[in-house]
Amino acid sequence: MLDIKYDSYDIEEKREVVKRTLFQESANIKSENFGKISEKDLYLLFELYDEVFLCGWFKQKFRGNIKFKLSRQLTRSAGNTRTRKDISAIKPEEVEFEVKISLNHLMNFNKAKRIKYVGGIEAASVLDSLMLVFEHELCHVIEFLVRHKSSCNKKPFMDLINNIFGHTEHTHKLVGAGEANVSEYGLKPGDSVKFRYGNSIMEGFIQKMNKKATVMCPDKHGNYIDKSGRRYVKFCVHPESFIKEG
Ligand SMILES: [Zn+2]
Repeated sequence: MLDIKYDSYDIEEKREVVKRTLFQESANIKSENFGKISEKDLYLLFELYDEVFLCGWFKQKFRGNIKFKLSRQLTRSAGNTRTRKDISAIKPEEVEFEVKISLNHLMNFNKAKRIKYVGGIEAASVLDSLMLVFEHELCHVIEFLVRHKSSCNKKPFMDLINNIFGHTEHTHKLVGAGEANVSEYGLKPGDSVKFRYGNSIMEGFIQKMNKKATVMCPDKHGNYIDKSGRRYVKFCVHPESFIKEG
């Protein structure tokens, strides 16, 4: 798609150049496991990637506009790229993209002690995960511009991202809100819990863990009925609200 192909040694070296320059130029990102980031940093990353990896491809060819955003809404995907459907029919200078990077996945990165991957590559730090997710989204933008469509589970995308960034997969194994809660609060689906609701203390079990827990509490008037005919009321509870015992 682009006439660019690097070997893994080149890619490692170029990522180091991006990191070093980022540490110098960013007001927030000063180390691998930074605790603060702003949308300005995403624009800075874009410039650095264009210069270091893409030989100024965007600077030379791209006349449109990209909005970079940090998102608290993305839960499953770590990033997201959107553009208008009729991209092939609009003037180059009117082409617009919205690239979102999930703030949750960055904040949760160190909440689980295991190896994390993005695109089949190990992410050893918050910065690694940001950069690998950014690379994935950048390839979506390139594919949209070149082919007017983009999908990361198809061959053209995988060839592109493998040639430039060495990714071998289109998925990530970062830490979602559910897993972060499991390690932060020690809670998982199936656990019995108690929490305060008005003046009463409710008892139930966790059915699902996300940012909040879905808790089923036995209640003979409840709308939810399990296989053995027991009725439950469903509650949405923040993990901090559970009453700790023992
Ligand atoms: Zn994708």
